[in-house]
Order: sequence, then C-alpha cells, then structure tokens
Amino acid sequence: MIDDVTRTILHYSLHFLAPVLFAYLFWRKNWRLASLLMIGTMVIDVDHLLATPIFDPNRCSIGFHPLHTIWAGIVYLIIWFIPSWKFKAIAAGCLFHLLTDSIDCYLGGVI
Ligand SMILES: [Zn+2]
Repeated sequence: MIDDVTRTILHYSLHFLAPVLFAYLFWRKNWRLASLLMIGTMVIDVDHLLATPIFDPNRCSIGFHPLHTIWAGIVYLIIWFIPSWKFKAIAAGCLFHLLTDSIDCYLGGVI
C-alpha cells in the first residue's frame, strides 16, 4: 500500500488537522472551541488501555476496542441529534475518528 511514515503522517493529520478544517467550515463562529471538542474526541482511544498490548500496529482498532465498535458508532450517531452544535461537534469528531482509524486499517492492510 503506502509506506509507514506516510501512513502515520496521514493518520495524525486526519486526527488533528482535519477537525480544525471541519470546525472552520461548519462552526466558523465557534471554530476554536469546535476544533478543541473534535480533537478532544481522541479520548475514545482510552479503550486501548483495556487491550494487551495497548498498541499493536497489526491490529485494527475498529471492531476490536469497545469505543471503536459499531455499537459505539450508533451512540455517536445518536449524540449527533442532540440539538446543540457542541454535541454535533463531539459526535462528528467521534465518527470522523472511526473513519480515520478505518482508513488507517485499510492503508495498513490490517482489515
Ligand atoms: Zn482510535
């Protein structure tokens, strides 16, 4: 697929830069807070602490870690419908996190 350096740069750009872009596009008036809320959804990676080893480059986090399952995704989708832009930013951040991790799994050939 692609080399590990490019894959890693792409992965962390999607985790940290794309949320700023989304926040600016969708919540321009509050883009700073929206960026922080979206980047803050990285906290769902806390579920990696339940796994042994905590990080395995040959394991896809999607469907493995509890906060990276379809069930968690459904909860994130439900959060989207809470009538508050802050919850929408959090939901979008969580769902985009799952997409970002999915892309990483695909590029790493671990799906
Ligand atoms: Zn993750």
